[in-house]
Amino acid sequence: MLLVNSPAEMRAWSKQARTKNNSLALVPTMGYFHEGHLQLMRKARELADQVVVSIFVNPLQFGAHEDLTRYPRDLARDEQLAARTAVDVLFCPSAEAMYPPLSQTKIRVEELSRGLCGESRPGHFEGVATVVAKLFHITAPDWAIFGEKDFQQLAVIRQMVRDLDWDVAIFAHPTVREPDGLAMSSRNAYLSADERKSSALCLWKAIELARREVAKGERDAPRLLAKIESLIASFPNTEVDYVRLVDETSLKPQDLVTAQSRLVMAVKVGQTRLIDNARICEDL
Ligand code: AMP
Repeated sequence: MLLVNSPAEMRAWSKQARTKNNSLALVPTMGYFHEGHLQLMRKARELADQVVVSIFVNPLQFGAHEDLTRYPRDLARDEQLAARTAVDVLFCPSAEAMYPPLSQTKIRVEELSRGLCGESRPGHFEGVATVVAKLFHITAPDWAIFGEKDFQQLAVIRQMVRDLDWDVAIFAHPTVREPDGLAMSSRNAYLSADERKSSALCLWKAIELARREVAKGERDAPRLLAKIESLIASFPNTEVDYVRLVDETSLKPQDLVTAQSRLVMAVKVGQTRLIDNARICEDL
């Protein structure tokens, strides 16, 4: 596996790979790999001849009081895991290389960026769209793999690709979970043993409750959401940022449960903000 730091070197490698008629898949990440990341890499391996994984903790997508400086990092371990997962190139640019001092351009996907996480994290999706656009230009992938775990991010990227006529296919990978249902996330490392055990599971329990209620015939979104919020409140040390039922394409709130409904949630567990989402009615 090749470790590349410079965007120019990365671009040259991709160009060379493409002249050999190889297809290329990109998996953008912020590192500190867990099994969720590794499954995205395996999917990339299935889809394309060459796999590039980027690790970049993107300052542009963090708010002033967010966790940019303490975001977990372990490049040596990530390198080993990526190499074992048959990744061809690990691309780890520096912030200075990605954003030279005179950079001015940002990409904003208007409506989809506004609600949900965009409300509590202003500017977040502008940072995400901008860095993903840059990574797409540098690596010129045929495929890019994203996780459904970050559902709004996935919607924003898909919209950007459509709006800018980008010739890249987006593959959405289902959320990978711990055996007890907690969605894997690098940020789970922030949880204390007690928070992990007694509180973090509230999101998965909310999904299970929603599915049970819908299977029993519940279709009224406000009533369903009230039940979910009270379930979450019964877990110690939790604070709901949002819990919504949205159409999975437009991300617009729904009054009634449909086959296109997604339950989307952000909950603070102690100091750690966790997100999760799921379809709640496969059979409607
Ligand atoms: P991150 O490093 O957290 O920015 O995530 C990099 C990519 O991995 C994004 O496309 C995420 O949606 C995806 N991802 C993170 N956690 C999971 C998970 N538990 N299951 C599936 N994909 C995930």
